[in-house]
This record gives sequence, C-alpha cells and structure tokens, in this order.
Amino acid sequence: MNANMMQQPLLISTLLNHAERHHGDQEIVSRRVEGDLHRQTYGDLAQRARRMANALVANGIRFGDRVATLAWNGHRHMELYYAVSGSGAVLHTLNPRLHPDQVVWIADHAEDQVLFFDLTFLPLVEAIASRVKTIKAFVAMTSRDHMPASSTIPNLLCYEDLIDAHSPEFTWPVFDENTASSLCYTSGTTGNPKGALYSHRSTVLHTYATALPDSFDCSSRDTILPVVPMFHVNAWGLPYLACMVGAKLVFPGPWLDGKSLHELFETEGVTMSAGVPTVWQGLLAHVEANDLKFSTMKRTVIGGSTCPPAMMDAFEDTYGVQVIHAWGMTELSPMGALGKLKGKHAGLDAVQRRALQAKQGRSPYGVDMKIVDEHGGELPRDGLTSGELMVRGPWVIAAYFKGEGGDPLAYFGDEGWFPTGDVATIDADGFMQITDRSKDVIKSGGEWIGSIDLENIAMAHPAVAMAACIGVAHPRWDERPLLVVAKKPGAEVTREELLAFYNGRIAKWWTPDDVAFVDSIPLGATGKMLKNQLRETFRDYRLPN
Ligand code: ADP
Repeated sequence: MNANMMQQPLLISTLLNHAERHHGDQEIVSRRVEGDLHRQTYGDLAQRARRMANALVANGIRFGDRVATLAWNGHRHMELYYAVSGSGAVLHTLNPRLHPDQVVWIADHAEDQVLFFDLTFLPLVEAIASRVKTIKAFVAMTSRDHMPASSTIPNLLCYEDLIDAHSPEFTWPVFDENTASSLCYTSGTTGNPKGALYSHRSTVLHTYATALPDSFDCSSRDTILPVVPMFHVNAWGLPYLACMVGAKLVFPGPWLDGKSLHELFETEGVTMSAGVPTVWQGLLAHVEANDLKFSTMKRTVIGGSTCPPAMMDAFEDTYGVQVIHAWGMTELSPMGALGKLKGKHAGLDAVQRRALQAKQGRSPYGVDMKIVDEHGGELPRDGLTSGELMVRGPWVIAAYFKGEGGDPLAYFGDEGWFPTGDVATIDADGFMQITDRSKDVIKSGGEWIGSIDLENIAMAHPAVAMAACIGVAHPRWDERPLLVVAKKPGAEVTREELLAFYNGRIAKWWTPDDVAFVDSIPLGATGKMLKNQLRETFRDYRLPN
C-alpha cells in the first residue's frame, strides 16, 4: 500500500530557498582575491544565484551540462554552487593544485562547457585555454575594474558583468532528485583521475547527516569558516550545510596561512571550522609562536588524513578547542565516520578518552560499514582484527563517471559494497580505526605493520614537523619500516634519539629500522603525504643490518 505523503524531490535549490526565507539577513563574509573583505547576506546570495542562473541559460548552458570552476572559498564560488546545480547543470570543481596536464585531461573527460576562475588562476587558465577541447567560454570571477588587461584567453567574460546584465527573477526548475548535481575527480595517485558524480538527493541526505550533533553539530548560532577547499569534495558539504542550518559563513579566500586564518577566526567570531591536518599544523605553529588564544572557536573537524594525537592534545588541552576527527573519501561525498564519544564514555580517564578520539570514528545513520578478509568474509567487530574497509549508503558512489576505472563495487554474493582501499578495525561500539591504506601497509616477515601508528609517534616528538613511514625492501623480512622525517625549523634531533623515542610506545619489532631526514615531505593536491613518491625516492635505500 502506498502512503499518502507528498513526493517532494530533495533538490539543492530548496536549501537556498530555505536559507533566503528563514535566514535572509545572515552574513556571508569573504576575503577576496582582489584584497578586500566582502560582506553579503543569504538574501543577496539567493538573488545573485538567480541572476547567475539566468546568465548560464543565456550563455547556452543546458540541463546536465558541466560547468567548471577553478576557485577558492568565496561568495562567488558559493553562488555558483547554487546557480549551476539549482538550474539542473552540473558543477564541476577542478582542483587548481593539480598539474596543468591533469586539469586538461579532467576538463576534457568531463566535457566542461564553461570555466569560471578566480584571478589567482589566470596563469593556469592561460596555459590550458588553447588545449581544452570542449570549453567555449571562460569567466573571470571578478568585477570589470579588475579584469585582466591583456589575455590570450578566447571568449573571456566578466562575472560581475554577467550578474549585472541578468534579472534576479528565476524560478528554480523542479526535477528528479537523482539528477546529477556536481562532479569531483579523485586526485588520481594511481591511474587516471576518476569522477565521483553526486546527485541532488545524495547531497541533501549527506547535508542532513553532517549537521547532526554527533557529526559537525551545526546550528544557526554557529559561525563556520571552511578551510577545506570548495574545489575538492564540496568543502566536505559545508556550503550546503550552512544554508540548511542558517549559520554565518566566513570564507578565507587564498589566505590559508596560520596568521591570516587566526585573524579571521578572531575578528569574525568563528565557532567552527574544518580542514586537513597540514593546515592546522601551520595555524598551531603561529598561535604557539605568538602566544595567542582562540576566544570564540569551539570545535574543528580534522580529517583527510590521520589527525596526529599530538595535534588533538594541543587543540583540546592547550586551547580548549574540541577536535572532531573525521574520515571520508571523494567517493563518499565525503563524510563516512566521526570520532564523537558516546554518553557511556563520560567516565573514561583522559588517556582512554584521547585513545578513542584518535580513532576515525563511528558512521552516522546512512553509512553502513564492515571489514572483510581477502575472500570478502566479514571480520569480527572486536577492535583488534583488521581488514579492508567496505562501505555502502545513499551518498556512496555506485559507479565512476563514464565508467572510468571500471566497476568500483565488490560483490560477495550480496549487493555491492564500495571497497575503500583502507585497512581498519571496528570495535563493538562501532568506532573504526584506520591502520593504513592497503597500498601503504608495510609487510614485514608475513606480518603487517601499520604506518600510521609509527608516524603518530614520531609526530609527537617536539623536533618533528612531519613524518612518513614507508616500507623499504629487506633481504630477510621482505620489507622493513623506514621513517622519513622533516624537522621543525631550527630544531635538532638525531636518528638514535628518534628511534629511542619508540621504546615502550610500540612493539619492539615495529620500530623503524632507520631514519632518513628530508627538507620536506612531498604533499599531493589534497594535502596528503605522497608516499608513492617517497617509495620511489627511497627505492634503493639500504637499511642498516
Ligand atoms: P583523494 O586525495 O584521492 O581525493 P580522498 O580525498 O577521497 O582522496 O581521500 C580518501 C582517503 O583519505 C581515505 O581513503 C583515507 O585513506 C584517507 N583519510 C581520510 N580521512 C582520514 C582520517 N581521518 N584518517 C586517516 N586517513 C584518512
């Protein structure tokens, strides 16, 4: 028997309508590439998004067309999030940190029709403009007085001219909620990049889940500053979440250094933020060096790679900022698990509590997880046994865009699960802990050594800025761990001191065999350590006997 309830499709435009009607005077503050601090309201956002939707239609963008962006976090990028998806086209956020050849490959693969870009990326756009096959127009996200004087870019338009030339009257079309809304490619560390094509439905459901108290815990009383870029996995959904709850939004533009971020946190009264560990490292270093505090910040989400326990200690114990450790992937929109404690954990002592928070966390309703052995058999949820982490749910991809990279799902006699490529344990309370990427596991004498634990210990040493642990060939044990370390500026530590630092902190046979000091650890386009590059650098490294 069918129920008698309304069928209202879950569309991204409804988030904007809600924000305009219920939080129309709420502020959106943006540090812009042009150098100013810009302020507008959700009412302005909605009006400008409708003007831009008219501009897209007038410039020949049709339902399902891909509209690309190369842009920082800012109000114009936010307007495009709603104008493009809301009008039924697909917002394709390109990652400007990728190599230009990769940007061209991705834009061609996506068949982007138009490219919107921040002025910072003018040199990149000039480098690719004559190479991309399908882009018909380029839009500089600025006003007429900041338009580049001479440019080799064909059909170059001005964002604010488009806004001024079009009416704010536009009715968002209503269509099937399974329609594609946005597209984001993985960084392609192995093979070609692969596209995750999100739907309106998956995005709205993901937004509900991220707002929950055991997730990001957001409300209209929050001031949110997304450090995590809008050019990768939709800034973890924060541009949608902010409209859903009516929070004040603060966009940092290109200024992601510790000093700029801290100033903005303080002057705008930021209560909540989110980003990868490498960004927070810069912020903490600035705050420590200048003896500063956080006067309004209550919590920050840290994910994308493991949050080192030493970072959690600094935020929570020294600065009183709660850390929400989160795990996710491009293929999961991205949120998959969050390290929020339960009521029953109130009695834990500080060390036990921190150990639990250091895990990647529990999945919210909507993400189903299990760990499996190499035959797909489910492994126990005992917090000890580790296996490949599999997920499924309404905001997990079922296929890559255009089938690039084959069918991602694994079938073990049941419906498909997405194999994450992460190796993890799950405990009886549902807390998942990643021990490694499956390709980063160090295989020593038939046993696995998880590189993340080894890195966390090294990062707790006061002289260490960043540490990566990789497997290096060994004649007897196949592989043994090599610790690659970048020291903090001006700090000194020896190989022997670092190796002795492992005593009593880990099983003796897990201790790295050697330490290699480097100036810096290579980072990828999404701020993760490029371990495959390190493995290449140290391919012929001879470990001491
Ligand atoms: P890409 O860099 O290719 O875009 P994603 O951004 O989707 O990839 O990264 C997903 C991967 O990042 C996960 O599979 C996992 O290995 C790693 N990751 C994400 N969050 C965490 C975390 N909190 N702790 C450890 N690893 C994490």
